[in-house]
Amino acid sequence: MSTLPVYRWRLAPDGYATRRQLRARGLRPGGQDVAAQLERPRRRGRSPLIAYLYRVDLAKPVRPMTPGRWAALDKANTARRTCPECRRDAGYVIPASLGICVPCHDTI
Ligand SMILES: [Zn+2]
Repeated sequence: MSTLPVYRWRLAPDGYATRRQLRARGLRPGGQDVAAQLERPRRRGRSPLIAYLYRVDLAKPVRPMTPGRWAALDKANTARRTCPECRRDAGYVIPASLGICVPCHDTI
């Protein structure tokens, strides 16, 4: 299905990094396509974990946060705190296990 080169976990070639590894170095993929993928085998019968690799030489520095980006982040966080049942800001991120705020969950 995929034509990307696939590497075993921890055997990635130099010059490639996951999004997380780039982030740790203050870099981001910068619009480049995924260059390769890593597969981490799991217990029998389970599909392997996949991590996508990006080329470090094409990565760009992380942009500093601007007011617009802060606002977008704030909006996203508000959405994560808003209960889909009562539409109130719960004041905390709605637990994925519940899907609704705790008071709503308790009244069901
Ligand atoms: Zn609720």
